[in-house]
Amino acid sequence: KSGFISIIGRPNVGKSTFLNRVIGQKIAIMSDKPQTTRNKVQGVLTTDDSQLIFIDTPGIHKPKHRLGDFMMKVAQNTLKEVDLILFMVNAEEGFGKGEEFILEKFENIKTPIFLVVNKIDTIHPDKLFSVIDSYKEKYPFKEIIPISALEGNNVETLLTQIKKYM
Ligand code: GDP
Ligand code: MG
Repeated sequence: KSGFISIIGRPNVGKSTFLNRVIGQKIAIMSDKPQTTRNKVQGVLTTDDSQLIFIDTPGIHKPKHRLGDFMMKVAQNTLKEVDLILFMVNAEEGFGKGEEFILEKFENIKTPIFLVVNKIDTIHPDKLFSVIDSYKEKYPFKEIIPISALEGNNVETLLTQIKKYM
């Protein structure tokens, strides 16, 4: 099984921490390379039964800046071409303007999207449920998976679910 996975989400939700955890030290993370192509490969996870290629989607991370039509189209096309989108959010903060901006980009996209609720190590389970509920009503996510990228909680479960969509 193999496929392309785009991780999107606001700055500081834990995208890099997640990639570092799943890819580990075996394979170089290429995020320092200049962004010459439109899909920036951030890391490749190769296991016995799968090859998962994680890519960055330029243009979808910066709701504060006005983006040109071109950048927006590039981002939209990237999301259409990958096999799976991981929309990562911060369990501490819940739904906000930044998330709304990104959700708008999901209109007309048929690619399956997971909601990955990160940093569950920092919050009370009751709060987690209400955060998840606030997202559930906004978009029909294929899976909703709470994780702690920092501590590793549930990361294996997420990888198992990802492989089902490859
Ligand atoms: P990115 O901007 O989305 O790539 O976010 P980073 O991976 O750089 O993480 C931003 C900050 O959040 C860093 O200080 C991380 O250590 C922290 N962080 C990331 N994941 C977790 C998590 O699961 N739990 C906690 N407590 N902190 C996290
Ligand atoms: Mg990062």
